[in-house]
Amino acid sequence: MESFTLNNGYQMPMAGIGVFTFTPPEAQAAIESALRDGIRLIDTANAYQNEKATGRAMKASGVAREEIFLVTKLWPSVYERESAVDDTLRRLDTDYIDLLFLHQPTSNWQAGYRTIEKAVREGKVRSIGISNFDVKPGLVEEAVAFAELKPQMVQVEAHPYYPQTELKKILAETGMGLMAWYPLGHGDKSLIAEPLFTELGKKYGKTNAQIILRWHVQAGNVVIPGSRNPVHIHENFDIFDFTLTAEEMARIAALDKQQRYYNGTPESVEGFLGWAPDFDAQE
Ligand code: NAD
Repeated sequence: MESFTLNNGYQMPMAGIGVFTFTPPEAQAAIESALRDGIRLIDTANAYQNEKATGRAMKASGVAREEIFLVTKLWPSVYERESAVDDTLRRLDTDYIDLLFLHQPTSNWQAGYRTIEKAVREGKVRSIGISNFDVKPGLVEEAVAFAELKPQMVQVEAHPYYPQTELKKILAETGMGLMAWYPLGHGDKSLIAEPLFTELGKKYGKTNAQIILRWHVQAGNVVIPGSRNPVHIHENFDIFDFTLTAEEMARIAALDKQQRYYNGTPESVEGFLGWAPDFDAQE
């Protein structure tokens, strides 16, 4: 298993599982299946409302907590809440979070950033992430300048149709990593069925999805594909026994269409401030 070294020295796995849109029972089953399969990176969020199920799955798996790299995200409605991180820890039934993101760059993100920094100083969080800060040019740089404790990761939409080439230049300058959400284009059939992936899949004895995920990893992106299907969960992690050539990497890079599946704007992001569920009210 390959790993990514964060700019604070911690290491994280290059591939894991994401549980966006999963009900608590679905999240619990998928995470247990993933952990049994050797996957050690989990990506959840306050907003997914399955953090309690994530905590149960970690316990039920029998895998030691320190072997798991646990990622979650604060939702804007709790950025200014004193207990935001403690509440998250309680739901996850753990005493630290490996990487905690600000989920959305709403107008109160600075307050949320200070909340996470305080938790890092208290030993409750190890690394800091900013998610969806690509919604406005210059915002990633603004967050880096604002930070007393520098962020380690961004989490943004990225896949062969939208490889985030410009953002990656900024990340290289600031020493931050990229976690790709929608790494498989949210399952878009036309992306997954690209003839190039079929061709390379035949060459390496891999599926099209595995070729896409391998491209991500070789491009330096951490991937968190979502799947409820144990066969796909296994497959999405079985990408570390082959290497695409430089020419094949370049051919995949040429598929860039600047096409996103989710088009957030600063205005639509601001709208998230109006969504404030009780995150404790989950199974
Ligand atoms: P994805 O690109 O991972 O695609 C998932 C889809 O692909 C599902 O329909 C699944 O059935 C299908 N799939 C999975 N493995 C497959 C395989 N091997 N072969 C064929 N099809 C396969 O999109 P996603 O699941 O929506 O996103 C992944 C994760 O990214 C989420 O679970 C979440 O953790 C994260 N995310 C974060 C944000 C954010 O705002 N930070 C937003 C969206 C998603």
